[in-house]
Order: sequence, then C-alpha cells, then structure tokens
Amino acid sequence: MTNPTVTERTRLTAIRAAWLFDGAGSRLVADPVVVLDGPVIRSVDTGVAPPPDARVVDLGAATLLPGLIDTHVHLAFDASIDAVGNLQARTDDEVLAAMADAGRAQVRAGVTTVRDLGDRGYLSLELRDRPGLPTIVAAGPPVTSPLGHCHFLGGEAEPTEAGVRRAVREHVDRGVDVVKIMASGGTMTPGTLQELAQFDVAVLRAAVDEAHRHGLPVTAHAHGTQAIADALAAGVDGMEHVSFWSADGVDVREDLMAAIAERRVTVGATLGMVPVPGLTPPEAIVSRLPAMMGNLRRLHELGAPFVAGTDAGIAPVKPHGVLTTAPAMLRDLGLGPAEALRAVTSVAAGVCGLGHRKGRLAPGFDADVVAVDGDPLADPGVLRRVVSVYARGVKVA
Ligand SMILES: [Zn+2]
Repeated sequence: MTNPTVTERTRLTAIRAAWLFDGAGSRLVADPVVVLDGPVIRSVDTGVAPPPDARVVDLGAATLLPGLIDTHVHLAFDASIDAVGNLQARTDDEVLAAMADAGRAQVRAGVTTVRDLGDRGYLSLELRDRPGLPTIVAAGPPVTSPLGHCHFLGGEAEPTEAGVRRAVREHVDRGVDVVKIMASGGTMTPGTLQELAQFDVAVLRAAVDEAHRHGLPVTAHAHGTQAIADALAAGVDGMEHVSFWSADGVDVREDLMAAIAERRVTVGATLGMVPVPGLTPPEAIVSRLPAMMGNLRRLHELGAPFVAGTDAGIAPVKPHGVLTTAPAMLRDLGLGPAEALRAVTSVAAGVCGLGHRKGRLAPGFDADVVAVDGDPLADPGVLRRVVSVYARGVKVA
C-alpha cells in the first residue's frame, strides 16, 4: 500500500483560513493558503487552490499569524506565588521538567519562540530545539554582582572589568545566544534595590565589549536611572524594563530617552499580564505604574525600537504564554494595531537574531503558525482565542 512518492508528498500541509497577517505588513489579507513543508514554509498565497497532494487543513473563519515571540521569559520560574522558592527547592532534573512544562504552555498559547533571559545553571540551553517546545534563545544565568539581583541563578561575577569579562567568556563557552546583565537591582531579590546600579559604567562597558568581541548581543536589566544611563553609555543592544525607578517614584529623563531612541537601543517593555482574583501587585509598583507607562509611551513617541518582554514565569499574573495580552497594552502606549503585532512577531524576531527565519509568514521561514478566532487588528484580545498552533511544522495538541 505504501507508495514512497505519495508518502513524500503528503508531508506538505496546506492551511486555509479566512485571513492572514504576515508579521511585517499593515493589514490582513483574505483567503490565504500557507503550505508547510516539514519545518519550513514553502509558500504563502491568497485565493489559490492548495497543491493537489497536500493535506488540507481548513481553519474556516480564523486569522493566521506568525508564531508569537516573547523577548523576555524565565522558563525556570513556574509563575507561582513563590517562583523563586520553588526553583531553589528543585533539583536540576526537576527544574528541567518544569521548564519543559512552561515551554509547552508557551506554545499552546501561540508563543513559538521565547528568549529566556535568566535560567539556572544554563538549563535552558539543554531544551533548545526539543520537539513540542518553543524555539529558545538562551541567555543562561544573568551576569550579576555578588549577592546582586537574581544571584541565586548562578551568574555572580566579580564586579571588576576582568571579572565580568571572565563571566561573559564562560557564557560564550557554554554556547549562549545573548548576554543578559543585571545593571540594577530588582524586587525579586531581597537585599538589592531597583533604583541602585550594580556595576560601574567601566565594568558594564567591559562586559559589553567582551560579548561583542564574541559576536553576542547584550541586553541589560535596567530599572534605576543610573543603571539606564550607564547601560546606554556601555553600548548595550537592548534594555529590559527601562522604568526609571527611583527611591520614591519614577524619574522623567527626556535626555536619556532621546538618546535611547537615537542609538536604536531596543526597549524591552515589561508588558503582558492576566488578572488573578485576590492578587494585587505590590504598592511600590502600583503607585509607580502610571509614570512608568508614561516613560514607555514617550520612548515610543521618540522612535525607540520596541518589543514586549513579559517576564513570564515570575508571578501568577505572568503565566507562561502571557505574551498574548501584551499587544493590547502596546496599543495603550501608542503603537498602532499592526505595529503592536509586528512588535511581537517580525520586530521581536530581529531582536532575537532570528529575523531571517522567524516572525513572518513567508516562503523559507520557519513553519511557526498560529490561528486565532477573529481579527487581531480590530481586537488584540482575539490573540487569546487560539484555534491552532504549528511550531516548526508540528501541530501542537
Ligand atoms: Zn526577567
């Protein structure tokens, strides 16, 4: 019964739907036919008949998009009320199992690529390219100061130029895709303060130089104004949070925001959350949130490159897959409907170094496809109504 030629041809899958957003454009196109050849997109056409031998999947009224890309997640954090404590209580094998669960939750939500900006002991690297999980862009443990922010992940470096160069080289040797450095403290780590810088600017500059020497981009966790100014001066490629957090509020620094935009430093806006009954964010965040959002709005107005990095995993309001809630918040910051979708597809792909194969529905790109029930330009909320997901050509259950 088995005819090898037919077997070969039936690997093609033709997905039909009512509409398509290609990840790079500004509008939906009608009657798409996306043909997947194993892990790669073979063709994207409209109003044509599927190839005769392709297996046809008709998704009816759905809209097809490229798989979404979250530029800031922590697969090692389980999105519980005590994500740090749970991580510390787990063996590496248990952490790997939890990370795989987190990855599957991401893919089920339509997030087919994640940039993990802080694991423990380089565990995220072991999960790269595992079937059923998202494509993982891995930073390993963030480079931090002794007892600094997220030191428990294992990335402490001596806070000297030689010390951070050594830490970056270790990350290079382990095979990371990006270097994450903690330029300021963070709320998750008792004993650190978000408003305080963790490294001198010369030390940050040495870390960036060492990473760039090895061809790796650097993104800095930067809350406090000094840390933002220093990271900018050090030549980082991206910054996470960029909240301008001060001891008693939020700073407004037009000069720094203009410089971030001018130097094309990517702003990883910490957006995306789901309400959890009975849980309210800490007062320190609630009171600062309007001013923090105001700064992000201004950064966008000034033309800074923008992506959404959710910090998925750190708390119950940030479950894995929470990126689907980010485009609505990006629109609140002034991004247009298509611009908000590009920020979580083609623009995010570029930031992850994957602009040549992720973030677009186009021939030759990875077969990462998400189908949603409705028009995501008219209502970004439909991104949470996932009909079907393909990750590198494999349909996700
Ligand atoms: Zn983070």
